[in-house]
Amino acid sequence: MLIAPESNPTKALTYFLLWPFSVFWALAALGVFGAWVFVLVLGPNRMFRDTVVERAYVALTETLPCYLERSLRRCGIGEALAGRAERVWGALFGRRNPLFQITAVVLYWAGLAAFFTQAAPFIPNRYVSAWQWLPICATLVANISFYTAACVSDPGVVDATNVEAACRVFDYDRLLFFDSQCRTCLQRKPARSKHCSACQCCVQMADHHCIWLNNCVGLRNTRWFLGFLATFCVVCFYGLYLTGAVILELRHVRGLVDAPVIWDEMGEPIVLSFKSSVLYLFDDRPLLAVLFVLLLVLAPAIGIFTAYQLRITMLGYTSNEESKWLNVADAIADGVVFAVRESDHSTREIAQVIEKEDQPADPRPRRQITHLRDVQNMYNRGPWDNFKFVLFPPLGPVPRKPHAA
Ligand SMILES: [Zn+2]
Ligand SMILES: [Zn+2]
Repeated sequence: MLIAPESNPTKALTYFLLWPFSVFWALAALGVFGAWVFVLVLGPNRMFRDTVVERAYVALTETLPCYLERSLRRCGIGEALAGRAERVWGALFGRRNPLFQITAVVLYWAGLAAFFTQAAPFIPNRYVSAWQWLPICATLVANISFYTAACVSDPGVVDATNVEAACRVFDYDRLLFFDSQCRTCLQRKPARSKHCSACQCCVQMADHHCIWLNNCVGLRNTRWFLGFLATFCVVCFYGLYLTGAVILELRHVRGLVDAPVIWDEMGEPIVLSFKSSVLYLFDDRPLLAVLFVLLLVLAPAIGIFTAYQLRITMLGYTSNEESKWLNVADAIADGVVFAVRESDHSTREIAQVIEKEDQPADPRPRRQITHLRDVQNMYNRGPWDNFKFVLFPPLGPVPRKPHAA
């Protein structure tokens, strides 16, 4: 007996012929998108220094925009367009706005809706037991809670009421951070803080301003951000496994396992291959297919980003400090970083930048530093203690004016 999907061999044949191409293009488009996000997020990091990732990042963020701008100016429409693009850019990224946050939330709930309508009705099945609903629900609740906490919590805003307490949390290492004033807030800048132009304030132990959270990530909310990333990683990989299991289950439900179909030119029955049966299901349930392919791209990207964030947390620095350490590496290569005595009465040595023109006038005995590994990161307390510090940060006085919207 011949069993064809939907008892329609001609329809099935069309999929075998056409689907590999559309799936190829869909996968290629998602692959390009994934690579684009990967390069933009991880391009500036030290681990990709002098690699194709860094070169792609420079090409995307500097070479290509410059080339486009020059071309537009040559056409005579550059000025007006550049002004408008600058205003749109400023509105989108220059200050806090909920556009990306709303987009993230809508996409997240659309993904959940796709999962609960397309995959959930087939759980439990021969690959997934009923008890797995417990970890599925727990992971989702934890993920949404961490995201909400990261969005609404105070990242560590520094204002007049808490600036002195904030300055006592970390010492200035006089390599990355100096006792100085923020030119915008007109107040002392605590060590490891950064002024965020979007939030219009200085943030303690600033990591970065996250457009998807519409909030800064800093001393007080990095733990919620890490919790969100870790659980989102689980959501993506677990979702990928569950969606894949449902696709395999549907092969059985729809009678596609070892199902022969008619190959109409030959008129002889051939057995439906695994690939063809999956492609047939993809066409039959496009939403499930989109969810599966999206998770396939998203899961490794989120995995790499989460691993990167956990790694820098364990090493005792922030994304903001990562780029500062890059500058130190450049300064060492330029031969302007020296080990000098902390003070006249101290025997402790600290690394300091002494510019070439200042070197002849500086009387202090000094030793040139030639490797980044010879420079101590003063804020590194050891992997476990760094992690504990981020999970349980010192919660000093909260600013009187809570994080302004
Ligand atoms: Zn500031
Ligand atoms: Zn910010």
